[in-house]
Amino acid sequence: MTSRPSIVLVLGDITYQHADVIVNAANSSLLGGGGVDGAIHRKGGPAILAECRALRAGHYGRGLPTGRAVATTAGELAARWVVHTVGPVYSREEDRSELLASCYGESLRVAAELGAETVAFPAVSTGIFGWPMDDGARIAIRTVREEAAAPVKEVRFVLFDREAYEVFVTALAEAD
Ligand code: ADP
Repeated sequence: MTSRPSIVLVLGDITYQHADVIVNAANSSLLGGGGVDGAIHRKGGPAILAECRALRAGHYGRGLPTGRAVATTAGELAARWVVHTVGPVYSREEDRSELLASCYGESLRVAAELGAETVAFPAVSTGIFGWPMDDGARIAIRTVREEAAAPVKEVRFVLFDREAYEVFVTALAEAD
């Protein structure tokens, strides 16, 4: 019998996480930015950026499309890999929920291909990209519930402030 991967909620900075994979809420340039992206590159050092540049010079010349995910090593972070995913910018006019779900699903697929057992996610799109935290949390938890599979055993959502953490606690309780 295969058991469902567990979902764990953590209040903190994702760059301190010991996990096989840390997911980065990147932008399509893959060349760094603000928020969690900036923190991962600052702390991970230049090796991550060098690999991102190589990806841009190769397969992703036009950038990584929204909803997709790609892996690099994790430089000086306490993780084995960083999986970079590009969340959608929130829109009131257009429902982009499937693209946000795709970020979680594609990141999990890439992590599983790498053989990762533990995966740490930030709340993709809920910062600079403006997605409301409660809706972002529901999409994140639902997608992970549906799509996380072996070898992934634990999915950790790392929430940067108490408010985001509480919103995820509520969304997880409602999903049970
Ligand atoms: P996006 O462009 O996808 O919105 P951001 O990095 O701006 O990406 O924000 C995504 C979420 O990550 C926000 O909820 C933000 O508060 C959070 N965040 C920012 N820095 C960190 C960090 N070091 N660890 C975990 N979460 C972070």
